[in-house]
Amino acid sequence: MNILVINCGSSSLKYQLIDSESENVLAKGLAERIGIDGSRLTHTPAGRDKVVIEQPMPDHKEAVRLVIEALVDAEHGVIASLEEIGAVGHRVVHGGEKFNKAVKIDASVIRDIEELSSLAPLHNPANLIGIRACEDNMPGVPQVAVFDTAFHQTMPKKAYMYGLPYEYYEKYKVRRYGFHGTSHDFVSARAAEVLGKKREDLKIIVCHLGNGASISAVKNGVCVDTSMGLTPLEGLIMGTRSGDLDPAILSFICEKENLSPVQMNDVLNKKSGVYGLSDYVSSDFRDLSAAAESGNECAKMALETYCYRVAKYIGSYTMAMQGVDVIAFTAGIGENSGDVKTGVCEYLKFMGVEVIPEKVNERGKEQIISTPDSKVTVMVVPTDEELSIARQTLELL
Ligand code: ADP
Repeated sequence: MNILVINCGSSSLKYQLIDSESENVLAKGLAERIGIDGSRLTHTPAGRDKVVIEQPMPDHKEAVRLVIEALVDAEHGVIASLEEIGAVGHRVVHGGEKFNKAVKIDASVIRDIEELSSLAPLHNPANLIGIRACEDNMPGVPQVAVFDTAFHQTMPKKAYMYGLPYEYYEKYKVRRYGFHGTSHDFVSARAAEVLGKKREDLKIIVCHLGNGASISAVKNGVCVDTSMGLTPLEGLIMGTRSGDLDPAILSFICEKENLSPVQMNDVLNKKSGVYGLSDYVSSDFRDLSAAAESGNECAKMALETYCYRVAKYIGSYTMAMQGVDVIAFTAGIGENSGDVKTGVCEYLKFMGVEVIPEKVNERGKEQIISTPDSKVTVMVVPTDEELSIARQTLELL
């Protein structure tokens, strides 16, 4: 069966059509600037050149229609008709406390995702738009919601409560939820599989280091802690997001710079992280490494601060799990940046972690990067959130 995986943002829509039997990606693409002038669809059929279709997309319904048109197109399509799409799997950001696993979408699930929008006002409404656009274009095709937060629902209360008045949890459900759950689940399961062990027998720390970044502690097959919180702003220093900071800094800066809370939020999400910290060199680690190499002190400091934060989280999760067997790096930076993995693993030497420099610097390859004698196995496991969504969608059908 072919499964269409959709990741819908407020003005964009990413898709992959996956053959669930072979798990091959038949085509993938991105619709951009939906509802804005200059909308375009970039469609890439597997093994062939990408095509760029520049056509107005006033809304997501039209975007989904164009995606289907591209998929069945005589020239650059990959299927003969809509009937060859057996199901749609949607990435949904916030499942709150309601969803601890993927679910088949019906009217009540839609209502629940809508209700959870107050916890993810930028994401859940966009995800819902994608769901409705697919319902309109593909009536009767089963749809599944796969939540970013679901894998983390096994965290114990001591890991998800904040030191705030309890009434805020009761009234507004303010607590840690965590994100990137699909990736943490996929990577921890795959790491165990590669090692020929059961995930249930291992203590694994997954470092998902992409533009957004988070770490999780997976003990005996379930998540026991993770670094992102109520929103994806907490935890590690990211590309443009601040991660952890002293909460009192917010009112301090707001007052000094005459910023509203909304403006401050924007600074924390878009102008901070290694981008802000490097004095705006770049949020991209390729640029940062190049700048650091050519002597830019701010870029060097941003990289060092980034690695230090990752290492501190690994330390605290080792304590939380009373040990660690496997540390797995994933996502754009985790899979590709030798500088970051080297910088982080330097701190882990005291606990007997030994890595092989040539392997640490290899890009994008699934492999063990520690020595056979290393006390902890360090690995790179490329993540594949779309494949995981397709698998979970198939499982539910
Ligand atoms: P997201 O899915 O969160 O947008 P990715 O997981 O694709 O992010 O990661 C993107 C980031 O990965 C880029 O911003 C860049 O910093 C980093 N990256 C990608 N390739 C490399 C590379 N060869 N070396 C270092 N960093 C890289």
